[in-house]
Amino acid sequence: MKFDTPDFSKPPVLALVIPCYNESEALPITAPVLFGILDRLAASGQIDGASYILCIDDGSRDNTWQVIGELHARDPRLKGITLAHNRGHQFALLAGLMEVIDRCDAAISLDADLQDDPEAIAGMIEEYHKGKEVVFGVRSSRQTDTRFKRNTAHAFYSFQKMMGLETVYDHADYRLMSNRALKVLAEYGETNIFLRGIVPQIGFDTAVVKYERNPRVAGESKYPLSKMLSLSIDGITSFSARPMRWIFFIGMLSFAATLIVTVYVLISNFFLHRANAGWTSIMLSIWGLGSLILMSIGIVGEYIGKIFAEVKHRPRFTVKDTVW
Ligand code: UDP
Ligand code: MG
Repeated sequence: MKFDTPDFSKPPVLALVIPCYNESEALPITAPVLFGILDRLAASGQIDGASYILCIDDGSRDNTWQVIGELHARDPRLKGITLAHNRGHQFALLAGLMEVIDRCDAAISLDADLQDDPEAIAGMIEEYHKGKEVVFGVRSSRQTDTRFKRNTAHAFYSFQKMMGLETVYDHADYRLMSNRALKVLAEYGETNIFLRGIVPQIGFDTAVVKYERNPRVAGESKYPLSKMLSLSIDGITSFSARPMRWIFFIGMLSFAATLIVTVYVLISNFFLHRANAGWTSIMLSIWGLGSLILMSIGIVGEYIGKIFAEVKHRPRFTVKDTVW
């Protein structure tokens, strides 16, 4: 597929896309801060005056949607959509990005709680003007996290890498995407969406902007360990068939162990005469068949991995430029 190259010299119409789940306490604090930043960037000619904020109410149980309506009445640059039910952060964010796809030149996704330091927005826009189409916000430290959250997060990154999922280290979903990058994202037809895995695959010129992650302004985290764990497993299983390859390797290892066990069992039986009746044949069949079964599952897994890649119908390539 080929999409038009953005005009990076023109101030972009910027959309700030914010998934909100039970954020009625945080939004009234967050909105004015973000308006302030939009005003400042528009005044200095870095973004278009028509830039705006889009809040996605992810089926909140509190009065978030009402708060969004009130904020919109006060300043219509804050817009909202509400989902029919709670679908989780990744889907809410995707819904927002798809909503702005024909209405902006660049979109920045960020959390409703000001944990993603909004001052980094200016840095991202600066990179956009240099022709960067995906700008990743990366945390410069994890000082404000509890030691537990910090350690578990880092353990997840290492585990994901081992399982064949490549993500940007310490990057959550705070990022700028050009309109063209959003159009490529829309080409990914998969249902299990894991943006942190897909966005690095989009390509084009990318950059990183470092920021300090602040404590939440109000309300409480909606991402307990259980949700982090399921996000991590979703990420791995949507991106990599490597866990199945590991089964094959374990099968190979146990087959090698079988050879050693065979020698031991045969010596015990024929030379040392230490074996009870039946032990030799049972040992050999458990080890032999067990390792063969493991390897067979691994081989079937390789084919399932291929089917898995096919059914996702991911875009096969994106043309960046042509001289014709
Ligand atoms: N969020 C969402 N749907 C959910 C859970 C969270 O849209 O089911 C939003 C939430 O409102 C916030 C962002 O995702 O804007 C990140 O959530 P949170 O701040 O609770 O996560 P943490 O920063 O603690 O990891
Ligand atoms: Mg947060």
